[in-house]
Amino acid sequence: MNSSLRTKLSLSYIVMGLFLIAAICLSANYLLEGQFRDYITRQHEERNKELVALIAGQYKSDTGTWDKNVIKNIGVNALEQGMIVKVEDNSGTVWDATVHNNGLCVQMLDHMSKNMSSRYGNFRGGYMENSYPVKVGPEQVGKVKIGYYGPFFLNDNELAFINTLNEMLVGLGLFSLLFALLLGTTMAKRLSEPIARVISAAREIAKGNYASRITEQSNTKEIVELTSTINNLAGTLEQQEVLRKRLTSDVAHELRTPLATLQSHMEAMIDGIWEPDSERLKSCHEEILRINRLVGELEKVAKYESENLILNKTLFDIFELAGLIVHQFEADFFRKGVELKITGETAQVYADKDKLSQVIVNLISNGLKYTDRGGTVEVSVKDRGTIVDISVRDTGIGIPQEDLPFIFERFYRADKSRNRMTGGSGIGLTIVKAVIEAHKGQVSVRSEFNKGTEFTVSLTKKVREN
Ligand code: ADP
Repeated sequence: MNSSLRTKLSLSYIVMGLFLIAAICLSANYLLEGQFRDYITRQHEERNKELVALIAGQYKSDTGTWDKNVIKNIGVNALEQGMIVKVEDNSGTVWDATVHNNGLCVQMLDHMSKNMSSRYGNFRGGYMENSYPVKVGPEQVGKVKIGYYGPFFLNDNELAFINTLNEMLVGLGLFSLLFALLLGTTMAKRLSEPIARVISAAREIAKGNYASRITEQSNTKEIVELTSTINNLAGTLEQQEVLRKRLTSDVAHELRTPLATLQSHMEAMIDGIWEPDSERLKSCHEEILRINRLVGELEKVAKYESENLILNKTLFDIFELAGLIVHQFEADFFRKGVELKITGETAQVYADKDKLSQVIVNLISNGLKYTDRGGTVEVSVKDRGTIVDISVRDTGIGIPQEDLPFIFERFYRADKSRNRMTGGSGIGLTIVKAVIEAHKGQVSVRSEFNKGTEFTVSLTKKVREN
């Protein structure tokens, strides 16, 4: 059965509280009670011995008589504490509490029996008697018999003490239960409320309201992580949604221009307004090529972005590869009047050579595209131990800050009107990113508008895997 976090937490706190009470009761009843019983028995034994010593002190050995008045006082006092004293010597009874006041003795025994059954329910006790000898030197001159309600008894003070102790324990137990309940519900509320809000925000996001965010403040680490993860997810989805819409409109836009041109040219020729001469057919052909190129690029990006981009890895010198590519570009750069340089050092990498060539080609051709005459594009390879950085820096037009997060997306172009003139279609960097990510590398960009741009690709040098 699925139950809410709140129910589960509250229940566990209650169970914990009940367990606590059970533990307290058990330990109080078995351990404490047992200890207390032993203590009381020892106490009574001590008291009996003291009493016997006190009575023995009343024997006058020179005359062989007892100070009966003092013994009487001791006996009366002892009776009040639950002890029925009887003193005997060789000639018979010296003093006997039952003779002195039998009614009081019976009353006392009855009182003790009540005390015991009030505490222990069906306590089975009765009158008991211990006998202690009174000696003068080695000679026994008499004996003291102490009767009591046994096997042990609690006098009023002792009973009051143990009752108070038990009441305190019950109170403590009830308080712990109440506290556990209160703490449980508060904790459960504090935990479940933000989660419930996260759930409702996640539902909103699932409905397509990607702008929804969770503003929940919490001091629970996991909840903070959960909210920030959901918010990040919403952010990514929102961005993807924008890009998806943009991609559709971009593709439509890209196709509309050549298709419209083609349509108007064809109609003009069908209606006989234009002669279908080779010049016009060539223009139509160019538009078809444009559409074809776009479709080809769409296919290419789909291939590079597919999750199972298969890498054919070999060990090669990336500096050497960059040098070859730079060499191939030299003529184009010369034609445009842009300087192309390469600096750095040799560095072995274990990677897919063809795909990395494509990456370097895309970055250098962007440098060429977006750098005006008189500018410079510099390729550099830097060995940083386990990592190799390949950067392409130009002194070109730069990328506006607001466009930087999107330039790696398909068909994204920072400055559309200008880019159409340069022939960009917005997939070069998408391919760069897909290839580098497949290599588990990183690509970063730094750019200042109207000053220049630097792309850096970081690859792990020589990791043989798969
Ligand atoms: P494109 O084919 O349009 O160049 P890319 O994916 O290679 O497509 O680049 C995406 C966009 O990023 C470009 O349209 C351009 O606006 C911007 N960009 C890329 N490289 C540079 C650069 N070196 N300098 C200035 N802008 C650049």
